[in-house]
Amino acid sequence: MGTHCTDCLESPAICCGRCSATRCKAHAFEPGDRCESCERDYADEAPTRRSAKLIFAPPFAVLVGGLLFGLMLPVTAGGAIGAAVMCALACAATISAGVGACRLVDRSARALFLRQHATGLPPARLLAPRTRLRLTR
Ligand SMILES: [Zn+2]
Ligand SMILES: [Zn+2]
Repeated sequence: MGTHCTDCLESPAICCGRCSATRCKAHAFEPGDRCESCERDYADEAPTRRSAKLIFAPPFAVLVGGLLFGLMLPVTAGGAIGAAVMCALACAATISAGVGACRLVDRSARALFLRQHATGLPPARLLAPRTRLRLTR
C-alpha cells in the first residue's frame, strides 16, 4: 500500500476512479482497472461473489433446462433419437445457463465496483449531518 514515488503524487498520469489515488506514467494501472488497493478490495470480495453464484446459478440453470425440456417434449416425444437429442440439448442449455449466470454475477459485480466512489458513498453522506446535529445539541 501507499505511494510508489513522488511522481505518483506530484505529476500523476492517471487517477483511480474509486478512491482518487493518483499514479505516474511508470506506475499507471490499466485503463478500466483501479489502483492496487481498490483491486485488492475487489479480489477480497471474490468469496462473496462465489456464494452469490452458488445461490443464483443452479436454480436459473434448472429453470432454463427444465423450460427447454418442457417446450421440446411434445415435439420429440415420438422417437428415441429425438428424445436423446432433446436431452442433450436440455443438458447443454442447463450448463450454459449456469455458466451465463456466473458470468453475469462477475460482470455486474465488476461494473458495480468500477462505478463505486469511496468518497461519494451515500451512507457516509447521510450519516454526517445527523451526527453533527446530535453533537451540537
Ligand atoms: Zn510512480
Ligand atoms: Zn483506488
